[in-house]
Amino acid sequence: MELSHILDDLNDSQRQAVSAPPSNLLVLAGAGSGKTRVLVHRIAWLIQHEDYHPNSILSVTFTNKAAAEMKHRIEDLMHTSTGGMWVGTFHSIANRLLRRHWKEAGIAQDFRIIDSDDQLRLIKRVYTELEIDEGKWPYKQAQWFINGQKDEGRRAGHIQAPELDLYLRNMQRIYQAYENACERGGILDFAELLLRAHELWLNNPDLLHHYQQRFRHILVDEFQDTNTIQYAWLRVLSGDQVPMTIVGDDDQSIYGWRGAKIENIQKFKQDFKDPTMIKLEQNYRSTKRILDSANQLIAHNPDRLGKTLWTDGELGDPISLYAAYNEHDEARFIVDRIEEWASSGNSRIDAAILYRSNAQSRVLEEALVRASVPYRIYGGHRFYDRLEIKNALAYLRLLSNRDDDAAMDRVINTPTRGIGGKTLDMLRQHANEQNVSLWAAAKELLGSNSLTGRARTTLGGFFDLIQQLDSDTSDCDLFEQVDHIIQASGLLEHHAKEKGEAGEARVENLKELVNAAKQFETGTMPLSALQDQDADLELSPLSQFLDQAALDAGDLQADESHDYVRLMTLHSAKGLEFPLVFLSGMEEGIFPSRMSNEEPDRLHEERRLAYVGITRAMKKLYVSYAEVRRLYGSETYNKVSRFVRELPQEHLEELRPKAVLSMPVSTKPTLISSKSNIEIPDTGIRLGQRVRHKLFGEGVVLNYEGSGDQARVQINFENEGSKWLVVGYAKLEVL
Ligand code: ATP
Ligand code: MG
Repeated sequence: MELSHILDDLNDSQRQAVSAPPSNLLVLAGAGSGKTRVLVHRIAWLIQHEDYHPNSILSVTFTNKAAAEMKHRIEDLMHTSTGGMWVGTFHSIANRLLRRHWKEAGIAQDFRIIDSDDQLRLIKRVYTELEIDEGKWPYKQAQWFINGQKDEGRRAGHIQAPELDLYLRNMQRIYQAYENACERGGILDFAELLLRAHELWLNNPDLLHHYQQRFRHILVDEFQDTNTIQYAWLRVLSGDQVPMTIVGDDDQSIYGWRGAKIENIQKFKQDFKDPTMIKLEQNYRSTKRILDSANQLIAHNPDRLGKTLWTDGELGDPISLYAAYNEHDEARFIVDRIEEWASSGNSRIDAAILYRSNAQSRVLEEALVRASVPYRIYGGHRFYDRLEIKNALAYLRLLSNRDDDAAMDRVINTPTRGIGGKTLDMLRQHANEQNVSLWAAAKELLGSNSLTGRARTTLGGFFDLIQQLDSDTSDCDLFEQVDHIIQASGLLEHHAKEKGEAGEARVENLKELVNAAKQFETGTMPLSALQDQDADLELSPLSQFLDQAALDAGDLQADESHDYVRLMTLHSAKGLEFPLVFLSGMEEGIFPSRMSNEEPDRLHEERRLAYVGITRAMKKLYVSYAEVRRLYGSETYNKVSRFVRELPQEHLEELRPKAVLSMPVSTKPTLISSKSNIEIPDTGIRLGQRVRHKLFGEGVVLNYEGSGDQARVQINFENEGSKWLVVGYAKLEVL
């Protein structure tokens, strides 16, 4: 068979990796060196050269979208279908196994996956049941504890809490009660999917053996971000019988905060039989300047495995640095650059705006909307995270499984239907006492005499509504079912009543959900890698759709035919590449995040995240920060991020379109500004003027609001950075 096309577009080391004998292989290499490409080609090689059946290959990717992309690329290479090949995230693969083997896993056949919001709700209910004080033990702490334990493979019963360790004892109690509640409701959270999948192997040797026969090779991308339970799951499955190819980059490990272990790369070398190690050193993605900058930045981290990365590509443009006055100015700057880019014949789809945390997207989105620039938020669970979508899905989940307490909890009074707090308390208490689901408790209460007239009417109304929705839609297509439910439940009207654009957007999103259901049914949804092609499962379309919604890491609205800019967090940018990249919000306290300041390990992880960000850029990189930023409701004055200062100055170009007002990167203000004629009304102070403050010393006036004594001025102090002061109190001495 002609195989050259599989090896043609590869360099020597890549070719060596792709065509290595099918035994354990570790490819350790920096960003953009072709790791993912090697995986894709190796799969094609195994199928075409080693005659592996696509069914016998298991490939683990980091997002569902990446899985779909991988299948697509393999099919392109081989010109045939990859039907039957297992490609997916750890979570989707675990889900697939558990759907097939729910009996062996000891879980409900129609189990539901809950996200972290619903998990938190459930934890709150557990607190009520146990009468634990939230003030002492915050809910989030318990959530973090539970997920952390699961990621390490520990159940509540495994934890040995010493008599005196109050924290651990309480957490264990909560964890135990939470486990019971999940069991009762047939609910699995994300961490549970992995833990159950691991236990499935441990408790069912025959089943494990079956899969060890079935799979002949396992491939894992982004191995540096596997956590303990994922590693353990792979290790048991592989069990010295199924060889593995793993690719990773220790410098791109960015999920330590969620339990990922960089050490797993090293462990692989010890735990797996005679692994071959291949390094890739040539970067094909970025210009020389971008690559050098990334290399220099990451060199500030200790304890690296150490890799060289070079490119024979062009030097490229300098990295442009923009110091914005505030977040709006930053957003405007970015939007202007994108429009420039688009108007000179480039596609917006080639541009990505990256930021550290989700909350930063709002201002950027507003600027894009104002300038009528189409955009999409990529990754995360954005679409399915929206309130209205979660409400709609909760109705659907309740229809699919009446014992889904989290769903019931969410919709019982959404839209409000007058079920009082007392009735709800009674319902919850009854469910706890009888150890039944909320739905069953409602049924029992309605059948007894314990409810008052009003409670009976309102609760009964809800009960009937759900039954009615179910019978109304039992013969419908999935999308008709979704359409009917959002209307008949009153949800659409409820959200439409919300004021202004928020309400409109919610209605649009709900309609988009109907659309999504339609695409899902016709298989045109871009994320169908998950769907079982050799399935012996009989899941209803609704259940499958709900699974997809729960697991989906992509953005449903993505429609490749449009030319839109992509916005995403740095975490979701992993593995991707774009010709034009904006790294926004490069400020101390934002990135690196405030929390990482005191902990070296976290700071190093933030630096790896910056490395990931920079290495997404192929041709042009903009880096920006704001002198003042309003985020989470309060205004902060941040210094430029240390990560900007760690970039090689020779590749950096500062942009100051309005030099008068901008703060230079160095802490020393420039004086070109004193030429400014802009007077701050009734103060005798001009923008750009040098002033002295008793406490903060000397600085330059950058910006102002208001007039006279009430005016607030922003001053960039030489030693203190930038601050906003009220003129009447600041007693500034004009120099
Ligand atoms: P990351 O660490 O960001 O996940 P990676 O190591 O997985 O990166 P790829 O995404 O596989 O790298 O490749 C980076 C880019 O380089 C892609 O556009 C890919 O097509 C291109 N590339 C990789 N190898 C070659 C090659 N031998 N010839 C030409 N282009 C290549
Ligand atoms: Mg990759």
